Amino acid sequence: MSLLDVGVYGLGVMGEAFALNLERRGLGVAVYNRTVERTRQFIQGRARGRKIQGFTEVRDFVNSLSRPRTIILFVKAGKPVDDVIEGLVGMLDRGDVLLDCGNSHYKDSDRRFTELASKGIRFLGVGVSGGEEGALRGPSMMFGGDYSAYAEAESTIGRAAAVFEDSRCVGYFGEGGGGHFVKIIHNGIEYAIMEAIAEAYDFLTRGLGLSSGEAGEVFEEWGRGELRSFLVEAASKVARHIDSETGRPLVELIVDEAEQKGTGRWAVEAALELGVSAPTIAAAVDQRTLTTLRSLRRIGPMPERIEGVRNGEAVEAARDALWATTLLSYLQGMGILDAGARTYGFKVAEALRVWRAGCIIRSKIVEELYRELSNAPGEPLAVSLKSNLYGLEESMSGWLRFISLASTLKIPTPAVMSALSYYLSLRAEKLPANLIQAIRDYFGGHMFKRVDREGYHHSDWGRRLE
Ligand code: NDP
Repeated sequence: MSLLDVGVYGLGVMGEAFALNLERRGLGVAVYNRTVERTRQFIQGRARGRKIQGFTEVRDFVNSLSRPRTIILFVKAGKPVDDVIEGLVGMLDRGDVLLDCGNSHYKDSDRRFTELASKGIRFLGVGVSGGEEGALRGPSMMFGGDYSAYAEAESTIGRAAAVFEDSRCVGYFGEGGGGHFVKIIHNGIEYAIMEAIAEAYDFLTRGLGLSSGEAGEVFEEWGRGELRSFLVEAASKVARHIDSETGRPLVELIVDEAEQKGTGRWAVEAALELGVSAPTIAAAVDQRTLTTLRSLRRIGPMPERIEGVRNGEAVEAARDALWATTLLSYLQGMGILDAGARTYGFKVAEALRVWRAGCIIRSKIVEELYRELSNAPGEPLAVSLKSNLYGLEESMSGWLRFISLASTLKIPTPAVMSALSYYLSLRAEKLPANLIQAIRDYFGGHMFKRVDREGYHHSDWGRRLE
């Protein structure tokens, strides 16, 4: 039996699709799954007639691979990844490569990289974005870990990635967990944009009285302009989809409680740890949590229609608000990336390059931000922030109108509102942090800087503490 090129461990949604993708790119693929039945079903089903071999014993799976071996893990993030690595490591040789393609925390990838390096195993933590379809046809891939292993994988496994204008959406983001760091920030941005789209949907349907199908048509129209993106396109499709059993829009039959697997929260934690402000990403994570408090809801009156508002004008205001919030979600994410880039040693523009195709947050805005960052000399992130912030001024009146109308209608818009106050803070000549500094000094003697003198100062604020 000839040896196979690559092994895929884990045949869930992503593992199956990626194994098929790799085979289509000309690689011989070995597959293994903890639950044997799943392997059997795959081999007898979607993998039938392809150069994909299934194994029911891990050792046979490992021994079927050419050396140095390359094994891709697509298993549930967290302890399962450690358990699987522990089971595999004794069967591997020095120089073999382990890729964790699940949504692992970057700090876990830092640790696994170091532990495996001490055993001579080359570890790559790889953020993969694009969902099932991306995994099957071409995802965006964010690599971190052993550079020599990346250089080899780029031309083999990298063949399975999406391509944007002749450029493969595959990038290297530094040692250890660099790739997973970038993927987590990607997911944070994804949370923020999805929340903003959901707020626009709420406004269009509950607020303006559009049907879900009509809201889907609005999204389709928006998706032809500045908001062109995978997520707006996805929203336009799901909003119009009719449930075949009931004849009703399926989206209206779905329980309004958002679930999460943790990557959004990790993005917010990263922002907090790195001292970066990302309020729209935080608002999106928070709002998912808030949606689960269903028993506390339905205590207020339902929104009323507002007299004298033309739907056309309100729809345009919603589009402006969504565009501004989406752009600021990217800029906040780029701020976190920029801070992380100093640890891992990558360029923010490289993340935007690999996000232009294949991934969930691909969009016209990403393409434009990449063009801008890659052309700007010096401090590209600061340049991009500045020029984009000024561009936001034009959408301001629609953005404010949307918030005003939505608030009058009692429709919550935390992502859009947080983006507005982020923007207003960045464009303000003065913020009231002077009062915060004064109160801190008043109760805790924390000192403050003055605008008219050098150094730190303290006042007794007219009190005498005896
Ligand atoms: P699924 O839930 O479809 O599959 C999970 C896989 O993990 C199964 O093969 C399961 O095996 C295996 N597994 C779970 N626990 C263990 C364990 N203790 N030991 C060995 N194997 C275990 O997940 P997905 O394919 O959706 O996701 C896989 C990874 O990819 C996750 O980290 C996910 O976050 C990430 N990801 C998912 C995306 C998506 O859109 N679905 C997109 C990008 C990344 P068994 O069949 O035996 O239960």
